[in-house]
Amino acid sequence: MRIAIVGSGPSGFYAAEAVQKKVPGVSIDMFERLHAPYGLVRYGVAPDHEKLKSVTKVFDMVAGKSGLRWFGQVELGRHVQLEELQQRYHAVVLATGAQGSKKLGVPGDDKPGSYNAADFVAWYNGHPDFRHLQFDLSGETAVVVGHGNVALDVARILLKPVDELATTEMASYALEALRNSNVRKVFVMGRRGPAQAKFTNKEVAEFEQLAGVTALARADELTLNDASQRELDSPAGDEARRNVALLSRFADVAAGAGNSRSVEFRFCLAPVRLEGNGKVTALVLEGTDLEGLPFKQEARGTGRFLAIPCQAVFASVGYKGVAPANVPFDARSSTVRHVNGRVVDESGVPQAGLYCTGWIKRGPTGVIGTNRNDSMETVATLFADLQAGPLVEPPVGDDIADLLRDRGVDFLDLQEWSRLDEFEKRMGARSGKAREKLVQRHEVRAALQAALDFH
Ligand code: NAP
Repeated sequence: MRIAIVGSGPSGFYAAEAVQKKVPGVSIDMFERLHAPYGLVRYGVAPDHEKLKSVTKVFDMVAGKSGLRWFGQVELGRHVQLEELQQRYHAVVLATGAQGSKKLGVPGDDKPGSYNAADFVAWYNGHPDFRHLQFDLSGETAVVVGHGNVALDVARILLKPVDELATTEMASYALEALRNSNVRKVFVMGRRGPAQAKFTNKEVAEFEQLAGVTALARADELTLNDASQRELDSPAGDEARRNVALLSRFADVAAGAGNSRSVEFRFCLAPVRLEGNGKVTALVLEGTDLEGLPFKQEARGTGRFLAIPCQAVFASVGYKGVAPANVPFDARSSTVRHVNGRVVDESGVPQAGLYCTGWIKRGPTGVIGTNRNDSMETVATLFADLQAGPLVEPPVGDDIADLLRDRGVDFLDLQEWSRLDEFEKRMGARSGKAREKLVQRHEVRAALQAALDFH
């Protein structure tokens, strides 16, 4: 049996792990469009969250098991087509994540100074596709819109002393830009209240420990309506309860409190437009009231407006899946149509041998570990299907590696990735960093040669 997994981020590796557990030694080929594996762990998790990144050790164990091959720099739809994979594998699992991000969608969000948080994250994490971006951090005030963990990553990275980031794997160009940054004040804005914020306690609490930074909130914005109080009091309200307690502590702090930098959490304010003649000079927001039943409350505009003078706005309102070609896709949720991981068309008809997992399956939610259960579900579906019907041999028996070679695709294998990994760590060690990521694709071959020369 041969299985193809497209994408080597968390969901791809957890899918491989689940397959290996069912059938040890099974032949798995993983395809990755970049020159490095790990997806969001490498390019999404903040560089100062080293512990979260250590999950790559689990992925390395999966990759090291017999039967698994990794093909780096092979992009589905560009170097190889879905149909060509389906001709060669009994099952294809799509684990391509959510490669796009949502825009604010308000007037002025295309002005210079208006950025996408996901782009900023990919940029400081050394993602090759985002290397060229520039973020103007010359102003003193930045606003992050959104109350998720990405918003908190962005706010923290903007405010954290650069010396504390300099030992991480953050891209050197980003470190330099942050060293020259004038940002002193960051607002983190949400359209709903503190009980509805999606960020988690651990991430909020980090702001209390941030050297030279005061964390602030406003007591009046932390007042809860009845429905929000019921959310907090319910068994599902644990995280929110602790968030509100933390934020209340921030509300007790005197503004400034001796620090030159601050983060301020604001609630019930929805973005309306970005102002500025040319560059962004202010974000206009409308106050909101919450309406609806507990856990279903929506923000309704009050007609009261507020302008926050600022020079940079980061929209952190969620990631978005990108439709793989010829795969049934639900544009509304930006996910592949599926039932328990089995890809189905609009009428619910299964697409034989095609599966999905991770963010392209369930949307951009949960933490890295959430993908483990998600991939286990998909793999259970896959094996149930294989057991239900006789195993049909794929029509083409040749090795995909030959096809890629014939096409002149400059793909990488696992040994080459480990050489690049070693190269990055050595380059990082020279300047006291955990690693210096290889960012430019055209440097890959030279880096591989340099890694050989180390020995
Ligand atoms: P998220 O958790 O879904 O948060 C998105 C935020 O954007 C919500 O506060 C949402 O408000 C707001 N929003 C959406 N549309 C908006 C609009 N039009 N105007 C104003 N606000 C809007 O997404 P995320 O922060 O991108 O995170 C993605 C996933 O990665 C999450 O599961 C997150 O926990 C995870 N992650 C985890 C970590 C970590 O563990 N350290 C770090 C980063 C990311 P509403 O609730 O009102 O819709």
